[in-house]
Parts: sequence; C-alpha cells; structure tokens
Amino acid sequence: MAEPEHRPVMVRELLELLGLRPGLVVLDCTVGLGGHAAEVLRRISPGGKLIGIDCDEEGLKVARKRLERWRECVFLFHASFTESPKVLGEVGFKGVGAMYFDLGVSSMQLETPERGFSFRSDGPLDMRMDQSGGVSAADLLTKMSERDLERVIKDYGEERWARRIARALVEARRRSPIRTTGELAEIVSGAVKRWPKRIHPATRTFQALRIAVNDELGNLSRVLREAEGLVEAGGRLAVISFHSLEDRVVKMDFKGKEKEGRWRVITKKPVGPSEEEVRENPRARSAKLRVVRREGENV
Ligand code: SAH
Repeated sequence: MAEPEHRPVMVRELLELLGLRPGLVVLDCTVGLGGHAAEVLRRISPGGKLIGIDCDEEGLKVARKRLERWRECVFLFHASFTESPKVLGEVGFKGVGAMYFDLGVSSMQLETPERGFSFRSDGPLDMRMDQSGGVSAADLLTKMSERDLERVIKDYGEERWARRIARALVEARRRSPIRTTGELAEIVSGAVKRWPKRIHPATRTFQALRIAVNDELGNLSRVLREAEGLVEAGGRLAVISFHSLEDRVVKMDFKGKEKEGRWRVITKKPVGPSEEEVRENPRARSAKLRVVRREGENV
C-alpha cells in the first residue's frame, strides 16, 4: 500500500464540488503524481478526457505510469500551468468543463533530498519545481541584497524574525556560499530568538524561498485570470491551497470573478479536510478548498 503521505489531499471534497460526470473534459493544472487525476478519470469515464499539466518532469513520469490504463483519454504535458491556454489549443479543446489546482509541493518533491525542498534531510539548495530552467534557491541566496532577503522572508514566510535571519544569512555568505538545506536550516535556527511551538524554526524561511524561486503567487494569480477563457459556461474551477498567502490570492480572485457577474462562488467559506484525513495524512492539515462555477448552462 502507498505511504499515507502519497495520498492525494481532500479527494472526496474535490470530486463532490467539481460536478464531475461521464464525458466531461477536465484540466488538472498540477497533475503531480496523478493521484487526483486517477480519481477524476474514474468519474468522467466513459467518454471523458483529462489534460494534465505539471512543470516537474520527475512527477510526470510517475503520473504517466499511474494513469496508464486510461491512456486513450489522458494528455500529459510538461509545462507551467500559466501556459494552459496554449496546451488546450495543442490538444484541440476550446474549453473544459472543470479545472483544478492542488498547489504546494508533491510528496515526491519533498522527500527527494536532491530537490532541496526539505530541511529534514541534507541536500543542495535547489527548490525549483521545474528543473529545466530558472534560478535555484542557492542562486537567490547569493545574489539578493540583505533588504530583499528580509522582504522575501517577511512577506512570503510571514516570519517575524525576518530581519535577524536576513542579517545572519548575509554574514554567513561572507564566510562561504550557502549551498545546502542543512546549512540554511542551521543558520536560520541560530538567528531565530524564540522557536515557534510546533514547527521547525526554518519552516517559514524555506517556504519563503520556495515561493520566490518558483514565483508561486505571481503564477497563481496570472493563471486564475486566464480561467475566464478556459472554463466553459456551467463549468467549475477549484483550488486546493496550503497556506494563507495562496488562499488569499484565490479568495480575492474568486471575489472579483463573482463581482463581474460571470461566476458564482460555491464555497462561501473555504472547505477544510475531515478530522479523519488530518489524522491519517499530515500534509492535509493546512489544506483549503475553494470552488467557483461559471454562469450558464452549456456544460
Ligand atoms: N495532485 C497531485 C499532487 C500535486 S503536488 C497528486 O495527486 O499527485 C503540486 C504539483 O504542482 C507539483 O507536482 C508541482 O510540480 C506542480 N506545480 C507547481 N507549480 C506549478 C506550475 N506553475 N505549473 C505546473 N505545475 C506546477
């Protein structure tokens, strides 16, 4: 059996709120290891199609295997979800009946030390979700000014000790470049005065750097604006987010959509995981699901 961590988050809630039925065309913008996609495919078969996008080639390999039995109705793409319009065009679909995101890092990304996402095991400070290009966390730590580091750690990490951490990082890199997750975790731990209760003192700094490396909030707000041209009338758009900054972007975008009159918010309050799921899968703890429905009856 799969490890609990490999289980997709909030599957039951997502499936319920996406309004799936046989024959539907669905876009999974963060197909990852294909966990949600497999469940979605069960609901839209026969006749349904799933287009899956992920910027992580390693995850896509796992998804490709997992979704093998539906290969006739699955289209997988290595791309950023900001390229969704182009991807849909390539498969020849004008729009989809449902579109969803499961943000954050996949369990595989988190558990592969070489990817540099985790302070729990030592590895190079990479943190790129898409390893085919871009700037790594180590590069950022070398190039950014102390002020910019402080801003990133404060804004993206919501870290109260941002100034002390930025100072410590700059002092440390004067001695030698910061290259590994272990070094970063140690420098941050040394700079934080009082440790937060349940979480590792470097948690917020790691989150902040990851968001910066992958421009996570920028990409998310850009693609949500694109949804207008991707989801057909009557179709749904769902996002599972994992921290308050992401959730805020989703909430504001959905509010704007409803105000313009072409969408209706289905989840007045974000939906959280069941107690049972949180007990079984720690990754679900901070998950929040929000859904909007495009007005009209075409789908
Ligand atoms: N739902 C998946 C897990 C998704 S984890 C499952 O059930 O297996 C989140 C995924 O989002 C990761 O694989 C990550 O690579 C991907 N991701 C993050 N930002 C992305 C972007 N801008 N474009 C495409 N994929 C992205």
